[in-house]
Amino acid sequence: MDRFDRNERFFGVDGQRLLRESVVAVVGCGGLGTHVIQQLAYLGIRKLIVIDDENLSLTNKNRYVLAYDSDPVTGFSKVDMIKRSVAMIDPTIEVVIVHASVRSKKAFDAMREARTIFGCLDNDGARLILNEYALAYGKELFDLATDTHKDENNFYFGGRLAYVAPDEPNCLVCMDMIDLKAAQEDLASEKSRQDRDSIYGVDRSELNEIGPSVVSLNGVIASLAVQEYMVQITGIRKAARQLQYRGNMGIVAVSRPQECPDCYFCKVVKDSLNDANLERYL
Ligand SMILES: [Zn+2]
Repeated sequence: MDRFDRNERFFGVDGQRLLRESVVAVVGCGGLGTHVIQQLAYLGIRKLIVIDDENLSLTNKNRYVLAYDSDPVTGFSKVDMIKRSVAMIDPTIEVVIVHASVRSKKAFDAMREARTIFGCLDNDGARLILNEYALAYGKELFDLATDTHKDENNFYFGGRLAYVAPDEPNCLVCMDMIDLKAAQEDLASEKSRQDRDSIYGVDRSELNEIGPSVVSLNGVIASLAVQEYMVQITGIRKAARQLQYRGNMGIVAVSRPQECPDCYFCKVVKDSLNDANLERYL
């Protein structure tokens, strides 16, 4: 018996073989990304490409499932933490680390080899880049997000999964998963941001207020994503296009994307590296 015996009872020897041949990129090694990576490692993929430019900090330790109490919180990159932890789960998995932002040539080059990309991001600018990258290069993309907000009477919390694939219509933009205005703001240069803020009198420290984040909510969204990846790659069924977890109601809702014939990204960027002109982001 091998370590994947129980996996194979679920999706067959062929399913395990397909996983064992798969190359997956995870962009963002935070609350969502660490869960996703942990599960991909246990599933037994062949190669993992991880992209993140940040270092581990103390306030990450309430929810990063691959971080330990003894890990240093100065100068320890999240991608190094991933490499160490995946080797502890399964040393046969090849791990490529990219200690850089998704908006870098290093990241763009590294993702070429992956068939599947998991976007575990917390900003719409990076999400927009990944959407275009996946469309232009014909990658499948699982995009994850958590959401918490409070008003006077209620506390809303949950998140969602959206799936973009070469053989399916719709992308993150026409599925309404990206706030293009917020994305533009994220991608603006620091200088143009400062100029705009001074014109409109915006105090950015208030805008970037750090929100709540807990291990179990991240775990639900990450598990939904890896589950859909697992059923898709092993041939059990096709991945769901959109799943919404409404944590304050305790339900998962499925929805199908609307037809969107006029989406610029689906029409122009899809399958066309020239028209996509991804280099403009670098
Ligand atoms: Zn689209």
